[in-house]
Amino acid sequence: MSYTSHEQAKKDILEAGRRLYARGYVAANDGNISARMEDGTVWATPTGVSKGFMTEDMLVHLTADGKVLEGSWKVSSEIALHLAVYRENPSLGGLVHSHAPAGTAFASQGRDFDMAVSIETAVQMGVIPCAPYAVTGSPKLAENAAVYCKEYNGCLLEHHGVVTWGKDVEQALFRTECLEHTVIMYEHMLGLGEVRLLSEEQLDELDTVRAKFGITTGGRPKGRA
Ligand SMILES: [Zn+2]
Repeated sequence: MSYTSHEQAKKDILEAGRRLYARGYVAANDGNISARMEDGTVWATPTGVSKGFMTEDMLVHLTADGKVLEGSWKVSSEIALHLAVYRENPSLGGLVHSHAPAGTAFASQGRDFDMAVSIETAVQMGVIPCAPYAVTGSPKLAENAAVYCKEYNGCLLEHHGVVTWGKDVEQALFRTECLEHTVIMYEHMLGLGEVRLLSEEQLDELDTVRAKFGITTGGRPKGRA
Protein backbone atom coordinates (compact mmCIF):
# COMPACT_ATOMS: atom_id res chain seq x y z
CA MET A 1 0.00 0.00 0.00
CA SER A 2 1.05 3.59 -0.41
CA TYR A 3 -0.52 6.89 0.59
CA THR A 4 -3.14 8.66 -1.49
CA SER A 5 -3.35 11.70 0.81
CA HIS A 6 -0.34 13.97 1.38
CA GLU A 7 -1.98 15.25 4.56
CA GLN A 8 -2.33 11.72 5.97
CA ALA A 9 1.29 10.84 5.08
CA LYS A 10 2.60 13.94 6.84
CA LYS A 11 0.32 13.46 9.85
CA ASP A 12 1.48 9.84 10.26
CA ILE A 13 5.16 10.85 10.10
CA LEU A 14 4.75 13.53 12.77
CA GLU A 15 2.83 11.14 15.03
CA ALA A 16 5.42 8.38 14.59
CA GLY A 17 8.14 10.90 15.49
CA ARG A 18 6.32 11.86 18.68
CA ARG A 19 5.92 8.21 19.69
CA LEU A 20 9.54 7.29 18.90
CA TYR A 21 10.72 10.16 21.07
CA ALA A 22 8.22 9.48 23.87
CA ARG A 23 9.33 5.85 24.05
CA GLY A 24 13.01 6.73 24.14
CA TYR A 25 13.74 5.07 20.81
CA VAL A 26 15.55 8.18 19.58
CA ALA A 27 17.81 10.61 21.43
CA ALA A 28 18.77 14.11 20.35
CA ASN A 29 18.34 14.32 16.54
CA ASP A 30 18.40 10.56 15.90
CA GLY A 31 16.17 8.60 13.61
CA ASN A 32 14.22 9.17 10.43
CA ILE A 33 10.80 8.34 9.08
CA SER A 34 9.30 8.34 5.59
CA ALA A 35 6.02 7.69 3.79
CA ARG A 36 5.55 6.80 0.15
CA MET A 37 2.79 8.25 -2.00
CA GLU A 38 1.02 6.25 -4.70
CA ASP A 39 2.76 8.36 -7.37
CA GLY A 40 6.10 7.06 -6.04
CA THR A 41 7.17 10.31 -4.38
CA VAL A 42 8.29 10.21 -0.76
CA TRP A 43 7.79 12.41 2.31
CA ALA A 44 10.72 12.25 4.73
CA THR A 45 11.93 13.78 7.96
CA PRO A 46 14.66 16.44 8.03
CA THR A 47 18.08 15.99 9.58
CA GLY A 48 19.20 17.83 12.69
CA VAL A 49 15.89 18.08 14.55
CA SER A 50 14.31 16.09 17.36
CA LYS A 51 11.79 13.72 15.83
CA GLY A 52 9.52 14.32 18.82
CA PHE A 53 8.89 17.96 17.99
CA MET A 54 8.56 18.22 14.23
CA THR A 55 6.05 20.39 12.41
CA GLU A 56 4.63 19.77 8.94
CA ASP A 57 6.73 22.50 7.31
CA MET A 58 9.93 20.63 8.28
CA LEU A 59 9.06 17.59 6.15
CA VAL A 60 10.67 17.17 2.74
CA HIS A 61 8.89 15.87 -0.37
CA LEU A 62 11.15 13.99 -2.79
CA THR A 63 11.01 12.11 -6.05
CA ALA A 64 11.67 8.36 -5.94
CA ASP A 65 15.31 9.07 -6.77
CA GLY A 66 15.76 11.74 -4.14
CA LYS A 67 15.26 15.08 -5.90
CA VAL A 68 13.61 17.64 -3.64
CA LEU A 69 10.11 18.71 -4.76
CA GLU A 70 9.00 20.63 -1.68
CA GLY A 71 10.51 21.71 1.60
CA SER A 72 13.37 23.93 2.68
CA TRP A 73 14.89 21.70 5.36
CA LYS A 74 17.81 19.40 4.65
CA VAL A 75 16.52 15.85 4.32
CA SER A 76 17.73 13.00 6.54
CA SER A 77 21.21 11.65 5.85
CA GLU A 78 19.73 8.15 5.78
CA ILE A 79 17.34 8.91 2.90
CA ALA A 80 19.26 6.58 0.55
CA LEU A 81 18.22 3.64 2.72
CA HIS A 82 14.54 4.65 2.56
CA LEU A 83 14.62 5.10 -1.23
CA ALA A 84 16.49 1.82 -1.76
CA VAL A 85 13.86 -0.07 0.27
CA TYR A 86 10.95 1.52 -1.64
CA ARG A 87 12.65 0.72 -4.95
CA GLU A 88 13.14 -2.89 -3.92
CA ASN A 89 9.62 -3.41 -2.58
CA PRO A 90 6.88 -1.28 -4.17
CA SER A 91 4.24 -2.68 -1.80
CA LEU A 92 5.68 -0.69 1.13
CA GLY A 93 4.26 2.68 2.21
CA GLY A 94 6.19 3.54 5.37
CA LEU A 95 9.61 3.17 6.97
CA VAL A 96 10.88 3.94 10.47
CA HIS A 97 14.54 4.05 11.51
CA SER A 98 15.52 4.53 15.15
CA HIS A 99 18.17 3.72 17.71
CA ALA A 100 15.78 1.87 20.03
CA PRO A 101 18.25 0.88 22.76
CA ALA A 102 17.60 -2.85 23.24
CA GLY A 103 17.40 -3.54 19.51
CA THR A 104 20.48 -1.41 18.89
CA ALA A 105 22.42 -3.18 21.66
CA PHE A 106 21.54 -6.52 20.09
CA ALA A 107 22.53 -5.17 16.66
CA SER A 108 26.05 -4.66 18.02
CA GLN A 109 26.27 -8.45 18.26
CA GLY A 110 26.23 -8.55 14.47
CA ARG A 111 23.87 -11.50 14.30
CA ASP A 112 20.26 -12.10 13.40
CA PHE A 113 17.65 -12.12 16.14
CA ASP A 114 15.99 -15.45 15.39
CA MET A 115 14.59 -16.64 18.70
CA ALA A 116 10.90 -17.23 19.35
CA VAL A 117 10.75 -15.44 22.71
CA SER A 118 7.04 -14.62 22.53
CA ILE A 119 3.89 -15.22 20.54
CA GLU A 120 3.98 -11.68 19.16
CA THR A 121 7.59 -12.13 18.08
CA ALA A 122 6.77 -15.34 16.24
CA VAL A 123 3.56 -14.09 14.64
CA GLN A 124 4.26 -10.42 13.92
CA MET A 125 8.03 -10.22 13.41
CA GLY A 126 9.46 -13.65 12.70
CA VAL A 127 13.21 -13.52 12.19
CA ILE A 128 14.92 -10.11 12.41
CA PRO A 129 18.05 -10.23 10.26
CA CYS A 130 21.12 -8.09 10.93
CA ALA A 131 22.45 -6.00 8.05
CA PRO A 132 26.28 -5.96 8.08
CA TYR A 133 27.97 -2.77 9.23
CA ALA A 134 28.45 0.08 6.77
CA VAL A 135 29.01 3.78 7.40
CA THR A 136 25.85 5.68 8.31
CA GLY A 137 24.24 7.39 5.33
CA SER A 138 26.27 5.39 2.80
CA PRO A 139 24.90 3.67 -0.31
CA LYS A 140 26.44 0.46 1.06
CA LEU A 141 24.30 0.64 4.21
CA ALA A 142 21.20 1.23 2.05
CA GLU A 143 22.09 -1.80 -0.04
CA ASN A 144 22.82 -3.99 3.00
CA ALA A 145 19.39 -3.25 4.53
CA ALA A 146 17.27 -3.20 1.37
CA VAL A 147 17.97 -6.85 0.56
CA TYR A 148 15.71 -7.81 3.47
CA CYS A 149 12.71 -5.66 2.63
CA LYS A 150 10.72 -8.26 0.71
CA GLU A 151 11.00 -11.25 3.00
CA TYR A 152 11.28 -9.61 6.42
CA ASN A 153 9.49 -6.92 8.43
CA GLY A 154 12.60 -5.02 9.35
CA CYS A 155 16.24 -5.52 10.21
CA LEU A 156 18.96 -4.61 12.66
CA LEU A 157 21.78 -2.38 11.45
CA GLU A 158 25.03 -3.65 12.95
CA HIS A 159 26.51 -1.19 15.50
CA HIS A 160 23.88 1.36 14.54
CA GLY A 161 20.16 0.79 15.09
CA VAL A 162 16.98 -0.75 13.77
CA VAL A 163 14.78 -0.22 10.75
CA THR A 164 11.26 -1.51 10.08
CA TRP A 165 8.90 -1.04 7.16
CA GLY A 166 5.25 -1.71 6.42
CA LYS A 167 2.21 -0.87 4.34
CA ASP A 168 2.11 2.52 6.07
CA VAL A 169 4.06 4.48 8.69
CA GLU A 170 1.94 3.16 11.55
CA GLN A 171 2.59 -0.47 10.66
CA ALA A 172 6.31 0.27 10.36
CA LEU A 173 6.19 1.91 13.80
CA PHE A 174 4.30 -1.04 15.33
CA ARG A 175 6.99 -3.34 13.99
CA THR A 176 9.70 -1.21 15.62
CA GLU A 177 7.77 -1.44 18.90
CA CYS A 178 7.38 -5.21 18.52
CA LEU A 179 11.08 -5.62 17.70
CA GLU A 180 12.18 -3.56 20.69
CA HIS A 181 9.75 -5.32 23.03
CA THR A 182 11.04 -8.69 21.79
CA VAL A 183 14.65 -7.85 22.56
CA ILE A 184 13.71 -6.46 25.98
CA MET A 185 11.91 -9.72 26.79
CA TYR A 186 14.98 -11.65 25.69
CA GLU A 187 17.15 -9.55 28.03
CA HIS A 188 14.74 -10.24 30.91
CA MET A 189 14.96 -13.96 30.12
CA LEU A 190 18.75 -13.75 30.30
CA GLY A 191 18.34 -12.10 33.70
CA LEU A 192 16.18 -15.00 34.85
CA GLY A 193 18.99 -17.38 33.94
CA GLU A 194 17.23 -19.23 31.15
CA VAL A 195 16.07 -18.27 27.68
CA ARG A 196 13.13 -20.61 27.32
CA LEU A 197 11.76 -20.24 23.81
CA LEU A 198 8.40 -21.39 22.47
CA SER A 199 8.48 -25.05 21.46
CA GLU A 200 8.55 -26.17 17.84
CA GLU A 201 5.05 -27.64 18.31
CA GLN A 202 3.79 -24.28 19.56
CA LEU A 203 5.41 -22.63 16.56
CA ASP A 204 3.64 -25.09 14.26
CA GLU A 205 0.33 -23.87 15.72
CA LEU A 206 1.40 -20.24 15.36
CA ASP A 207 2.20 -20.85 11.69
CA THR A 208 -1.54 -21.49 11.31
CA VAL A 209 -2.30 -18.22 13.11
CA ARG A 210 0.11 -16.36 10.82
CA ALA A 211 -1.58 -17.90 7.78
CA LYS A 212 -5.00 -16.88 9.12
CA PHE A 213 -3.82 -13.27 9.56
CA GLY A 214 -2.30 -13.36 6.07
CA ILE A 215 1.20 -12.68 7.42
CA THR A 216 3.69 -13.98 4.86
CA THR A 217 6.83 -12.05 5.82
CA GLY A 218 9.38 -12.61 8.56
CA GLY A 219 9.93 -16.35 8.40
CA ARG A 220 9.92 -18.67 11.36
CA PRO A 221 12.19 -18.01 14.33
CA LYS A 222 13.89 -20.86 16.18
CA GLY A 223 12.03 -22.57 18.97
CA ARG A 224 13.03 -24.80 21.84
CA ALA A 225 14.37 -28.11 20.68
ZN1 LIG B 1 20.64 5.94 12.63
